Amino acid sequence: MKNIAILGSTGSIGENALNIIESEPDRFRVVALAARTNVEKLAAQIEKFHPKLVSVADAQKAQELRSMVKRRVRIVTGAQGAIECATHPDADIVVAAMVGAAGLPPTHAAVCAGKQVALANKETLVIAGGIVMQEARRSKAVIIPVDSEHSAVFQALRGEKKKSVRRLILTASGGPFLGMSSVQMSKVTVERALKHPNWSMGPKISIDSATMMNKGLEVIEARWLFNMPPSMIEVVVHPQSIVHSMVEFHDSSVIAQMGPPDMRSPISFALNYPDRLAMDIPRLDFSRLMTLTFEPPDLTRFPCLALAYQATQAGPSAPAVLSAANEVAVEAFLNRKIGFLDIPRMVEKTLNESPNFPVNTIADVLAVDHWARARARELIGRR
Ligand code: MG
Repeated sequence: MKNIAILGSTGSIGENALNIIESEPDRFRVVALAARTNVEKLAAQIEKFHPKLVSVADAQKAQELRSMVKRRVRIVTGAQGAIECATHPDADIVVAAMVGAAGLPPTHAAVCAGKQVALANKETLVIAGGIVMQEARRSKAVIIPVDSEHSAVFQALRGEKKKSVRRLILTASGGPFLGMSSVQMSKVTVERALKHPNWSMGPKISIDSATMMNKGLEVIEARWLFNMPPSMIEVVVHPQSIVHSMVEFHDSSVIAQMGPPDMRSPISFALNYPDRLAMDIPRLDFSRLMTLTFEPPDLTRFPCLALAYQATQAGPSAPAVLSAANEVAVEAFLNRKIGFLDIPRMVEKTLNESPNFPVNTIADVLAVDHWARARARELIGRR
């Protein structure tokens, strides 16, 4: 029996993880759930999964939650509350599925506590990868990626030596605007941008997929997770989302991991690792005509991907600036304050204005995050 803590339990990954846990009651038990503001959904999860500890954004949300649940459960709040969930002494596996930089402190705490971490919050490694991976080596925390591309690379690397690897090839669906011109893209609505062709995901990552910033963040995530320089990590557009990523070895042999585009698959892999559990997911049908295509990404129409590569060449704080400015710009786009193509513009401006900050501690990283958010908000407000 494995005890699970879920950070971000009411989001898309959190709900999928709970579905898997529900279908395997003899293997998994929920000990802690952290959410922010969706107390209705959290209340229903408490009644169903009986966690010992839950965390919400603040005291008011805690009070609302208290009035909704009949069961005895400890309710904690804020960033400290999420950390308590992440380090619960009974938790064997922590599913880190909060959105954005807010996921860093609790995910880092889980790593420090030596937990097995099923990592879905890519910002943790994007903004603090050096610190978190070093801490994982010290604490012997095992980090299993949930991001489908990184899960694919992780699977392709099993049993292989790192020195045999020539390059990692991350696949990108290209999002809903793959074939669109920049002029068309300048006019897209929030609704269009939220409609991903293959994957069902939360709003932030859906927009990141449409700008391809998601792939840029994933390159930085892969760099830390697999300890590879960004120059050895390539992106290829593969609109069908069947090949989830590939590893090329020095003998020119390529191992690709394939599967239907369903997040339950990498989540289940991370929860059951090193085992594989039977999953009731639609299977790939090779008896039917299936076309898999690959093409290089267009960095002119999707400048966010180029910005992410640039950030890896700039100072050590640049990825944190990139990620924070992107979070602010995506939120502004979702709130209809800026246009779709303003997202890369705002990120680029913030990056260009950013000094080099030291990033030796989590506090340093959070200070950079704070600076970049304030600067990006100012730039957006000035428009
Ligand atoms: Mg991904």
